[in-house]
Amino acid sequence: MIKDDTIYDVMVIGAGFAGMAAALFASAQGLKVVQTGATGGIDFSTGFIDLMGVHPMEEGKRWNSPWAAIDAAVKDYPKHPYALLKRDEIAEAIDTFTDFLAQNGLDYVGHSERNSRALTPAGTVKRTYRVPKTAWKGTLALESKAPTLFVDFHGLKGFSGKQLVETRKRNWPGLKTVRIQFPSGSGELYPEHMAWALADPAVREKLVAEILPHCDDVEYVGFPAILGLNDPQQVVAQLEELSGKHIFEIPTMPPSIAGPRLRAVFDRGLPVLGVRTLSQKMVTGVEKLGDGSFQFAVGSGAAASTVNAKSAILASGRFFGKGLRADRNSVSEAVFNLPVVQPGNRDEWHLHEFFDHKGHPVNMAGIEVDEQLRPLNAGQPVHDNLYAAGAILAHQDWMRMKCGAGLAIATAFKAVKAMKG
Ligand SMILES: Cc1cc2nc3c(=O)[nH]c(=O)nc-3n(C[C@H](O)[C@H](O)[C@H](O)COP(=O)(O)OP(=O)(O)OC[C@H]3O[C@@H](n4cnc5c(N)ncnc54)[C@H](O)[C@@H]3O)c2cc1C
Repeated sequence: MIKDDTIYDVMVIGAGFAGMAAALFASAQGLKVVQTGATGGIDFSTGFIDLMGVHPMEEGKRWNSPWAAIDAAVKDYPKHPYALLKRDEIAEAIDTFTDFLAQNGLDYVGHSERNSRALTPAGTVKRTYRVPKTAWKGTLALESKAPTLFVDFHGLKGFSGKQLVETRKRNWPGLKTVRIQFPSGSGELYPEHMAWALADPAVREKLVAEILPHCDDVEYVGFPAILGLNDPQQVVAQLEELSGKHIFEIPTMPPSIAGPRLRAVFDRGLPVLGVRTLSQKMVTGVEKLGDGSFQFAVGSGAAASTVNAKSAILASGRFFGKGLRADRNSVSEAVFNLPVVQPGNRDEWHLHEFFDHKGHPVNMAGIEVDEQLRPLNAGQPVHDNLYAAGAILAHQDWMRMKCGAGLAIATAFKAVKAMKG
């Protein structure tokens, strides 16, 4: 087993939204950070940063103000993790996170007081707090009901301009769609390959030449999210210059290109801030040492190592991230074996109807924490120097409440703040 002799201030366990945010915030505080984790929700995300969109879940009530939605949710769920945060802490967390993205070429846009409306690949409208700049003009087109062309491609599955038009046309006249050949490659197409191909300015020119004959009577042109991997804003700017139209992206079905774009920013940006990233490696064991610090076993086989840290932030997600696991009888936490708040027995995990709006009780399972985000056992912190953030926290159903990335980022901010004292 390889031994890393560095003693880190903090080990961040997780490389999803919460883990990336925790590593960013901790390094900004001057802490020596090591981060582990494999593919997480961030890799599959649509790129939208939701703060809070729906409450109560059973009514599917959607909110224009995420702040009013948070207040209402916390009133009904006093143990919701947002109850541990002040509004200015949440706002500062999101701003710091999106500032970092912008510094690395991925701008995010939104209103400070209200959610924006964003198009989904199904043609439905979602309320979200921040959208990638490359999608923003879709929000403007939707809000102004401007004449818009949706472009889709022969060979690209899971994205249909026709479906977008059919779903929206009742409230949004002046929509039309065209299906074209992608100028580079044929047969079955994948967003990531198309995005790579658009790194070539000649492919962008050919793409514009294909759509221009269909653009006379529209102001906006919406594409599936394929417009570049590392430089989407430049690709959009060039397409706008060549076409004279407002250009925007709509996320494709997961996994969308938005996830790899976000990951690429963190893969590049965190090491520059001094974060040691043990990418695609998992914590396989942990020992508490005599001085109160942790020694982690990381990775497996010949590349296995031990890593020492004075404190840790557990941002390992739920079942999808592998932070929680379930056997036939109960749900357990995978790294520290922390107590998991969960329904009394397995019969209560799920409701009868798969799509029941109330949400399945097992999706509220997770780790209960104190006001400093430290995991609890019988009301007491399990360790003074262990914090938790993100989807692993109990008493929230991020998928139905539409609070995924926002809650992850905000709780990571609070955990780092608590750690710094
Ligand atoms: C398909 C999809 C679409 C989404 N779209 C949106 C959206 O539009 N807007 C939005 O706001 N949110 C969205 N989300 C939610 C968001 O991406 C996150 O899933 C959510 O916010 C929780 O983030 P997290 O970091 O807490 O957990 P996760 O994203 O689940 O990440 C957990 C991380 O912990 C790591 N980990 C687990 N166990 C260990 C271990 N033992 N050692 C080391 N690392 C470990 C995993 O490898 C992973 O990196 C979407 C999620 C999915 C899956």
